[in-house]
Amino acid sequence: MTTPTPCPTPDKKRYATLAAANSAATRSEIALGYPLYPYTTCPCTWIHLSKTPDETIPQDATINIADVTRLQLQCHTTFRDVVASEASGHAPLQDRLALRHRGLLERWHKALKELDADINDQLRQRAGDKTLEAHDWRRRATNYRDTLRRRINECRDLLSQAVPQTKEEKDADRQARKTVQQTQQAHFEQANAARREARNTAMDDELDRSNIPQVAQKDLRRQAGERAIRRLIDAHGLEFSQYLAEECAALGASLPNRVRKYLTDAA
Ligand SMILES: [Zn+2]
Repeated sequence: MTTPTPCPTPDKKRYATLAAANSAATRSEIALGYPLYPYTTCPCTWIHLSKTPDETIPQDATINIADVTRLQLQCHTTFRDVVASEASGHAPLQDRLALRHRGLLERWHKALKELDADINDQLRQRAGDKTLEAHDWRRRATNYRDTLRRRINECRDLLSQAVPQTKEEKDADRQARKTVQQTQQAHFEQANAARREARNTAMDDELDRSNIPQVAQKDLRRQAGERAIRRLIDAHGLEFSQYLAEECAALGASLPNRVRKYLTDAA
């Protein structure tokens, strides 16, 4: 039996699962007023909490290309949220890895620059606020900005090391994204068709139960519709005629004499 490596920080509380560590982190943040971040890299194999986000990426971690594609397909706002939560130390490992993939570096860089500009704006706007609350916020905001700057540098380093993508590689990337999009679209359409089918079946069943032939039902519905319009016109004739006049004008159609007379009389 092998003895586990002794914990270098035996005074720290330890958690067996990430879920337990996360919930402890949330409770501590409320009690302490600053966030704590779980880290899984202690040689004792337990999870502890730290004041600084865990920025190490395990040596044996591998990028899943599906995660890269998932982030590539996100809209700008969602993607920027991922970048922001990664910078705050809250992104799952697969997102952290994917952001560092060649196919996302430019986009990651752009989002980081935007977030950096945004937090600087906020810092400028609140510069004159001398309240205690603003002071606390400024401390957190400055930390966050420093992290963004570290990320921007990291991203630039990765970009400078990266071999520029050849046209073939770019085309292959584009093709891969397109395939995923098409698959998603096909799933979406299938789901819609299934829903429509289920709805039609349910309606047919309903009609069968009430023993009314579908054709007769359709005709009854049309009649009901016409009667409802009739009642609407009776109750709001003037309003209806005015709408009709506007729509006729918009389409360049002439107004029925009856309606013109009605409107003239009403005026
Ligand atoms: Zn430990």
